Amino acid sequence: MPEPLPAAPLPGAAELPALHAALDDWFAANARDLPWRAPECTPWGVLVSEVMLQQTPVVRVLPVWEEWLRRWPEPSDLAGEPAGEAVRSWGRLGYPRRALRLHAAAAAIRDGHGGLVPGAYAELLELPGVGSYTAAAVAAFAFGRRETVVDTNIRRVHARLVLGSALPSQALTAAEMRLAASLLPADPGASVRWNASVMELGATVCTARAPKCGQCPVRESCAWLAAGEPAPTYTPKGQAWHGTDRQVRGAVMAVLRLAEDPVAPELFYRAPADLGFEPQGIAIPLAALHRLNAAPEQLERALAGLLGDGLAELHLGGVRLPA
Ligand code: SF4
Repeated sequence: MPEPLPAAPLPGAAELPALHAALDDWFAANARDLPWRAPECTPWGVLVSEVMLQQTPVVRVLPVWEEWLRRWPEPSDLAGEPAGEAVRSWGRLGYPRRALRLHAAAAAIRDGHGGLVPGAYAELLELPGVGSYTAAAVAAFAFGRRETVVDTNIRRVHARLVLGSALPSQALTAAEMRLAASLLPADPGASVRWNASVMELGATVCTARAPKCGQCPVRESCAWLAAGEPAPTYTPKGQAWHGTDRQVRGAVMAVLRLAEDPVAPELFYRAPADLGFEPQGIAIPLAALHRLNAAPEQLERALAGLLGDGLAELHLGGVRLPA
């Protein structure tokens, strides 16, 4: 059951232009220089960046994004290669199902849109793996459309700046979407800059753990500061990693990404030397996997999960990335 938003006076029509202008000026002077924001970046580049950035920090996304766009400058370039190549090139961004979804979206763009990323929210939403956030973000940032973009950073800024809460509710609510829509400038160009600047403020200043309110361009209007910085009403769940199935899956994927041939399943369970193997090219990720000392049941779950998700397949008695 989502938490109700606390009652708070929303900025009136008279206050909104000042908020818009303050963030506009701040963004012009402080926005990070990111390649997917460059005027020459294609809608495909924006779509790839939005999918990669969903669960991975900018610094890790940058080199992989650049490599993807160099290798697959158009959706049809990616669609023309096996899905396994997308997974292999995903590197260590995590949540590699996103690579499969981008590959499927590229194929849908090639087959249903003449190879060009569509610009309308409804068409974007129909692409495989594209949800409401990604569709709105691509329509806004790649096509200049007036869309209500709401990601984690924007939700946190709205919660503090407007509602006076330390954190947004634990699940996205219809009330938050209405609030975001009510704050959006009417002019499409201004709405794009507003979306981008609020997102950037949340990523760099109004951060989750330690907001830098002294550097904030809208601190005079901030409801959370005015309320005396009330504590959060819940503790955000951390993302456990060490010892988890996700860690083991990641280690298995690291082996598969480097393997030129299908990997014999027993290599995941026992050291190659014990089996009389000399693994070519995968000795380092295999050693890293074995250092985890994962129980056989956990390895079993990891392999079954990867096979079930289509991130790996059985071939000639071994395991490999999907062809
Ligand atoms: S003043 Fe602080 S809490 Fe308020 S919006 Fe700015 S950074 Fe966030």
